[in-house]
Amino acid sequence: MPSQEPITLADLPIRNDLRGQTPYGAPQEHVRIQLNVNENTHPIPEDVAVDIQAALALAIRTVNRYPDREFSALRESLSRYLGHGLTAENIWAANGSNEILQQFLQAFGGPGRSVLGFRPTYSMHSIIAAGTGTRWIGADRDEEFRISPQTAVAAIEREKPDIVFLCSPNNPTGTPLHLDTIVAAYEATDGMVLVDEAYAEFAPANLSTALTLLPGRPRLVVTRTMSKAFAFAGARVGYLAADPAVTDAMRLVRLPYHLSAFTQAAAIAALAHTAEMLAMVDDIKAQRDRLLVELPKLGYPVHESWANFVLFGGVSDPHAMFEALLANDIIIRDLGIANHLRVTAGTEAETTEFIDVLQRLTAAAKPSVVVPPSR
Ligand SMILES: *Cc1c(COP(=O)(O)O)cnc(C)c1O
Repeated sequence: MPSQEPITLADLPIRNDLRGQTPYGAPQEHVRIQLNVNENTHPIPEDVAVDIQAALALAIRTVNRYPDREFSALRESLSRYLGHGLTAENIWAANGSNEILQQFLQAFGGPGRSVLGFRPTYSMHSIIAAGTGTRWIGADRDEEFRISPQTAVAAIEREKPDIVFLCSPNNPTGTPLHLDTIVAAYEATDGMVLVDEAYAEFAPANLSTALTLLPGRPRLVVTRTMSKAFAFAGARVGYLAADPAVTDAMRLVRLPYHLSAFTQAAAIAALAHTAEMLAMVDDIKAQRDRLLVELPKLGYPVHESWANFVLFGGVSDPHAMFEALLANDIIIRDLGIANHLRVTAGTEAETTEFIDVLQRLTAAAKPSVVVPPSR
């Protein structure tokens, strides 16, 4: 007899290594000012939108056919965008850089293998590791969330991971990662080293990108996304640059035709407007820099950020502050780091409103000073 009892995940014969795991869970609430998941809060420019619509309209005409399994035109566009002497052979793309990370771990991780990361870091790194049966090893950072070459090498020599994940600049801290650490990590392991550069476009100079390290380093992989700088989070386009042999590894695990014809068409159309799309990045960096200046004035020390968000401390009750901002139609992110919250740089108006509301909440929370009456 089939049971009528409601069941839960724990009642199913799920993989033992997934028991007790929690899914990625950034709240998706309908709040007027959304500064919680580091999206680009600027809509894409009208003329770019019109071009993307035209490209999608054309793609519909041939949607009875499978899309280009090799997404050659998109890889061509992405390699031109990245520069650094890269060609289409060096590029692989997928539905968001999260899918890139998943395919990468399917090919190079998996049961019996391990991946080392430096916490706190992007929560999806360990979640994707779990999903692919790859053992996640968390190592500690130095002061101010930095990773010196010595710290990276010591962790690699101690843990002997099959894979090293680095995040540059790091999410959720915004912290830069210098190239000498990446080089030291690469030399300390025989395994793959992946640098997640989701926020690279917000960093000060092109000098900071690990793309410059790719020649002669076939075990190095740099991942990027169109979700942040390109304001394309809803389209789901992420990619990597690496030796062509790495893209061959990805072909072994990807599902055939994983990038839809619409995704390919939209991304190519957006990349044709790179300059216009990236014009917003300067505005966002200016708002981030405003946050870096204004938050300390309100008593919240900040961590250096090369990304489109700021992690700030000095919050006595992060959960209460998160809720108070939410009551004011602003959502930011509580990552469970003691006394810290993270806020995404928004448009100028959004950032202004966030700072104003935070100032009000901070003033209201201060214990009122009892001034003795003067005679
Ligand atoms: C936002 C983010 C991504 C992007 O994921 P997509 O799947 O491309 O949207 C990747 N890595 C980090 C560190 C991020 O913060």
